[in-house]
Formats: sequence, C-alpha cells, structure tokens
Amino acid sequence: YTLRDHFKTQSLDGFGAADLAVGIGAAGAALHYLQQSLRRSTGHIHRLNVYTISDYMTLDAVTQRNLELLESARGERRHTLVGSVDRTLTPMGARLLREWLTHPLRDVTGINARQGVVAHFVDDSAVLAGFREQLRGVRDMERLLARLVTGSGNARDLVALKESLLALPKLKAVLTNVGAALVPQTQEEPAGRGAQAAPTLWIQLTGAITEQPELAELIQRAIEDAPPLALKEGGLIKRGYNEQLDEFRRASVEGKEWIAALQQREIERTGVPSLKVRYNSVFGYYIEITKANLAKVPTEYIRKQTIANGERFYTPELKEMEGKILGADEKANALEYELFQQVRAAVVQQSAAIQQSAAAIASLDVLAGFAELARHQNYCRPLVNDGDLIELVDGRHPVLEQTLIEERFVPNDAKLDNCEQQVLIITGPNMAGKSTYIRQVALLVLLAQTGSFLPAARATVGLVDRIFTRIGATDDLSRGQSTFLVEMNETANILNNATPRSLIILDEIGRGTSTFDGLSIAWSVAEHLHNSVGAKTLFATHYHELTELAVTLKKVKNFNVAVREWHDQVVFLHKILPGGTDKSYGIQVARLAGLPKEVITRAKEVLNNLEESELSAEGKPKLAKARKAKVNGPKSKVLEVPQMYLFGEKKA
Ligand code: ADP
Ligand code: MG
Repeated sequence: YTLRDHFKTQSLDGFGAADLAVGIGAAGAALHYLQQSLRRSTGHIHRLNVYTISDYMTLDAVTQRNLELLESARGERRHTLVGSVDRTLTPMGARLLREWLTHPLRDVTGINARQGVVAHFVDDSAVLAGFREQLRGVRDMERLLARLVTGSGNARDLVALKESLLALPKLKAVLTNVGAALVPQTQEEPAGRGAQAAPTLWIQLTGAITEQPELAELIQRAIEDAPPLALKEGGLIKRGYNEQLDEFRRASVEGKEWIAALQQREIERTGVPSLKVRYNSVFGYYIEITKANLAKVPTEYIRKQTIANGERFYTPELKEMEGKILGADEKANALEYELFQQVRAAVVQQSAAIQQSAAAIASLDVLAGFAELARHQNYCRPLVNDGDLIELVDGRHPVLEQTLIEERFVPNDAKLDNCEQQVLIITGPNMAGKSTYIRQVALLVLLAQTGSFLPAARATVGLVDRIFTRIGATDDLSRGQSTFLVEMNETANILNNATPRSLIILDEIGRGTSTFDGLSIAWSVAEHLHNSVGAKTLFATHYHELTELAVTLKKVKNFNVAVREWHDQVVFLHKILPGGTDKSYGIQVARLAGLPKEVITRAKEVLNNLEESELSAEGKPKLAKARKAKVNGPKSKVLEVPQMYLFGEKKA
C-alpha cells in the first residue's frame, strides 16, 4: 500500500514487481521508514527497480578485495582497477563506473548493447571528443537534485543545476547529429566495423536526455549567478525578476540615500562639522555628537546613549525612516526566500525528467570513458557469448600495464574451457608473475562483462556467473594469525558454491600450514574442482608436485612462467608457457632481494645437501627426474615419488 500510494499506481505490475511479495514488502518498509521515522522527503523517488541477483556476476567482498577493484592493498587508487580504467568526466559517471565494476552483467544482449555504444564512440573520434568536451559543463545533477528535492539545497545548487541544464542541448546535439547525418536511424546493431548507424542503446540513452530550456531559463532569470549560501538574508534573486521585490529594494535604497544625505543637512543646520550619522545592529540608526559640541545639540534630538567621548541621539524623523528601511529589507528577504522556494518547486516538478537525463548522461559518460580508454590503451572488443570458452590473446594486466615504469608489460595468452583446459596449474619461481597472470585473467573476464573493451589483441569470453578468489597466506599478510582457518573457510565457500560457469582464482592455497598438509589440501582441492565442481580454475602454486595432476586428470593442464638462468642469476621473462616447472629458484630470488653473499652461498650448500640426502635416503631418483620420466611414461611411476605417498585416494 505504501508503495502504491507513493507511486500513485494501481498495482506494481508496471515495475515488473507484481509477484515479488518479499521484495515489495522490503521496499515498502524502507520507504515507510524514510517517511515516518526519518521524516525525509521522498518526492524524488519516482520508480522502483527490480534487482535480480542472477542478472549480475557475483563478486563477494573477498574477491573484490583480492582483485583490488575499488581499493588496493597498498591504499593507492592507481593500483586499483577503477583507478586504471576510469576515464569518466562527471561525478555521476564515476559513481556508475564503480557500480558497473562491482556488478558486471550476465546477459550477452546487455553486454553487447554497451559494447555497441563503446564501439560507436571508438569509431568516431570526433563525436567522442565533442561529447566529452560538452560533458565538462555538466555538474553532479543527481546529487544537486537530491539536495533540492529533500529541501536542503541552496541557491548555488540551483545555479549549478542551471549550468548543467544549459549544457544539455549541445551535448545532445553532438550525439544525435552523427546518427542522423550518416544513416537514417535503424534499430539494428551495426553489422560490423564501418557500419555507422547508431546502436539501439545509443539512441535510447540519447533520447532519455531531456533538455529543459524553460527551467534553465527560469533559474537564469530568477537566481543571482553567484548567490550566497544563506537563504534568508537576501541576495538570491536577480533584479527585474519580481516587481514587488524591486519595490521593496527601491524603498530600502531610497531610505538609505535619505539617511546618507541627513548627515550633511544636520552638519549645516547645527554647525557641528564632526556630526556623524551611524548604524549598528543593536540601536539602529543614530546621530553621534562629540563632547565638545554637546552644547550645540538641537532640542528635538532625543538622547539615547552616552559613550566615552560623546553622546548618541535620534530624531523621530530618523526613527521613522529606519523603520521603513528595516521593514523593506525584512520584507525583501522574506519575499526572496519565497521566490527561491518557488523556483526550487519548479525544479522538483521536473525532477523525474532531470533524473532520467542524469542517469543517461552517467551511462554515456562511462561508455565514452571506456572508448577513450580503448583508444589510448589499445583495447580490443571482446566477443562475449554464452559458450564455455575463455580465450585471451596477448592479454595484459589492466592495472600493472599502466603502473609499470621501468619494464614493459609482457602480454600473455590464456585459454580455459570446460572440456580440455578446465584447471590450469601455473608454476614458476617467486616473482615470476603467477599472481599477476591469474588476476589478469579474472580482471579481463570481469571487464568484458561490464561492456568494456579489453587490453588484449583478441578475446572471447564465455559468460561467467561468479568469480571466486582465494589468495594464500603469504600473499595476504594483513590477515593475522588464524590465516589457515580463514583460508579453509574461503576454500570451502568456493567448493560449495562454484558452478561450471564460475571462474576460480587460487593463489598459493595451502600455504598457511605445513608443507605436507598444504600440498595435500591443494591437491585434493584441485581434484575436487576437476571431478565434481567443473568450474574454470587458475591455480598458481609453488608446489610443483601439483603438476603431476595433469597426468591423470584430463582437464588439468600445466603452465609455467618462463625464467632463464644466466650466469647463476634468474631473469624473469614473465611469459606463460605450456608445461610444468621443477625448480623454485628461491635462492636466486633471495640474491635479487639483496641477501648477503655468505647467506646465499651457505643456502646453496644446504640445498645441495638436502637434495642429496633425499636421493640417498629414498634410494630413488629425484622428484624432478621422476617427473621427466613420467611425462611420456606410465603413470604408476608418479606414485612412486616419495611425496606422493600422502595421497591415498590417488593410488586407488
Ligand atoms: P609471483 O606470483 O609469481 O610471485 P607476481 O605475479 O607477484 O609473481 O609478479 C611479480 C612481479 O613481476 C610483479 O610485481 C611485476 O612487477 C612483474 N610482472 C609480473 N608479470 C609481468 C608481466 N607480464 N610483464 C611485466 N612484468 C610482470
Ligand atoms: Mg604470487
């Protein structure tokens, strides 16, 4: 009832909410709370939107943090996704972009519609530049409107709104002229590059921008261009807008002129050259005469106050004029406030249309921003479909690509599907680029589903319903002691909720515990993802033992990040190659980090000893050798490797 009352509709069918009893209840309660408990004005709430979780990709809080979408671990905005891809020019666009990045779409049509607009902007740089130029004149219409509607807005908000409204005609013209000039508007998506007809969403958004010349003109005529913040002290309304107001002001001015002239008249009349007519807010207007001249005070002067070096007087005539002035000022201020409220009411009346314009401008701002980004950072339009293939050719990390200063970013391919490359095990030494790579894949899929183009040469993205991430303990130091438990909770969440349409990023899981525990958990998690869950998974790990999984599980594939050894040093190539690795290069990395030479040398000795003792104790070939044998050999060989002892179920 609350809702129907508020929206003045017969039913809620028009909002597509007819059958959503629980949702309607909640919305009604929220509205009731706003109105009755908070006593807020709700006049600007014009519609009800049905939000269905299944319309959007799910990104839980952990994942948003791990992928550094809006906030980075280091707290710097330029290290976040939003910091790297935001090219919006209005606060409305900036807000909407954050919304889109945390709520990527899940339907091909919606994504394609957005891409169509981006492509149109990309193809026509003149329109893109023209539109963005006009955007600079647009202020935060949504916030301005909300303030004005709820009654907290002031005259400056009106002026800001006016400026935005005045920018609309040109803004709209930039957008409509293209479509109209090149091809008669068709409702079809352009068939391919070079097709110039404006895409449907473009036409829709452009159409939603409603120019409000009368309203802009009203504010222009009524409100001072640089009004004060205070609403009841005058100075808001322009001369010539209201006759009554002008009359009050004239009366006030004339009175003040009369008083100004009074001083001269009284000096002449009394022969006291130092006589002053003054004003203060406690006594109003008065005539001040110094002690030396008190003898010359005319009889009709009425004494009011004695001060250190003289006395203050008034005359009935002066009091009367004062009354006129103050009365006129007071009336003028009251009238100004009333007129201001009228103009504000006119805005409120148009608030639905203004809101709609603002929303359309916000969307266009984001989409034009995507286009700007695509042009400057050389992004491509991904093919988004309902298939199960994710293929990125020469993909780049959108954030790192822009923040790397000395090095060039090395592009990498990625291919995931549900039948051959479902679980990718990425091995490689520390600092090779594993974490970067798996996050990059997640970020590109996410970006693709917002409608953005991608930092890649070519890309196909089969829709993803949810991205899960799990970043192991050492990569996540801020978490404190119970990291292992947290890690297992999060892993459980993933295993229980992922679907074959999900994308999972696992970075070094199992690190929070002892090696064997960690390895066994990592192993069985990977198996479970392969055998039961079926979600596309990127698994970065320093447990190179995990590469054995690829031998028995057909949808598991190994990849490694290439490094070269050169004079006992490692050189990171950051290139992802098929196959596993067997060396961790920990010592070389330690050297890079500047550990003292003696420590490095000693570490090498210890490592050699360990490797030898492993050999002699077990009397079997080293793990690395066993692996090499097994790549083309029988799988039973793998199981003989000492570490594999742990995995009972593997043997069965
Ligand atoms: P790992 O997870 O394997 O330890 P990271 O992914 O954390 O390695 O990468 C370590 C560093 O290597 C990054 O901070 C980055 O500077 C650099 N790096 C990673 N990938 C690339 C790449 N593709 N191109 C250039 N530099 C990269
Ligand atoms: Mg890492």
